[in-house]
Amino acid sequence: MKLLSSDKGEFRFLVKDISPAELNAFRRIIINHLPSMAVDTVEILDNSSALFDEIIAQRIGLVVLKTDIESYFVKEKCKCKGAGCARCTLDLSLEAQGPCIVTADMFISKDPAVVPVHGKTPIVKLLENQSLRVVAHAILSTGKDHIKYSPGLMYYQGNPSIKIGNVKNVEEIVEICPRKVFELEGKKLKVKNNDACVLCNACVDASGNEIEVKGSGKDFIVTIEPWGQLTALEIVEGMVDSLHEQIDELSEEIKKLK
Ligand SMILES: [Zn+2]
Repeated sequence: MKLLSSDKGEFRFLVKDISPAELNAFRRIIINHLPSMAVDTVEILDNSSALFDEIIAQRIGLVVLKTDIESYFVKEKCKCKGAGCARCTLDLSLEAQGPCIVTADMFISKDPAVVPVHGKTPIVKLLENQSLRVVAHAILSTGKDHIKYSPGLMYYQGNPSIKIGNVKNVEEIVEICPRKVFELEGKKLKVKNNDACVLCNACVDASGNEIEVKGSGKDFIVTIEPWGQLTALEIVEGMVDSLHEQIDELSEEIKKLK
């Protein structure tokens, strides 16, 4: 495994000798099994805005919350057995008086470690004499329950190998590549940044098939794109832990069969 780049919280790394099936299992764990926090229920104490309570609750539910996975439990695994307590539920309150645009950063969280990631997320516009007062209850859950709990995306592509044949329009090729993979050395076309290639084949078409681009079937470039609840590193660590847990669970079940 080799880290290729990390930019704006996004990780790109090369994994060698692995199958797409294995990578897909990792991808599905990230989407469905890693817990993160989001608002589950909303108490609307006052709403004189133009939007219905349900629409406001839906919008609040989609607010991305920075998650502290060490301090919270998934409700079902909590001591309170799902009743709701400080170990599994966090209250965020909001009071706004128009005229203004209500944004996510107006929420006051009881836990300073769990706050909206994108503060400028708009919830509703209030006009003169309109107001909104809500208490939102955030919980830890997984993408299996609702996609809003998914901490991010993982996607992958075959590691590119690029062969340059007898290319005439070298300058055009350098220009046309959206990932700036090529450079010119005198009049000669060279690959400058192989890892940046996304197999779009723009160079293949423009060169009349004089350039050959192939993605490997066993070495892959993996990208992890977090939404903000967890960092890319926390996602990778959580994915490994979750995989171990599931394998342990499976082997326990197999033992029972004997
Ligand atoms: Zn609890």
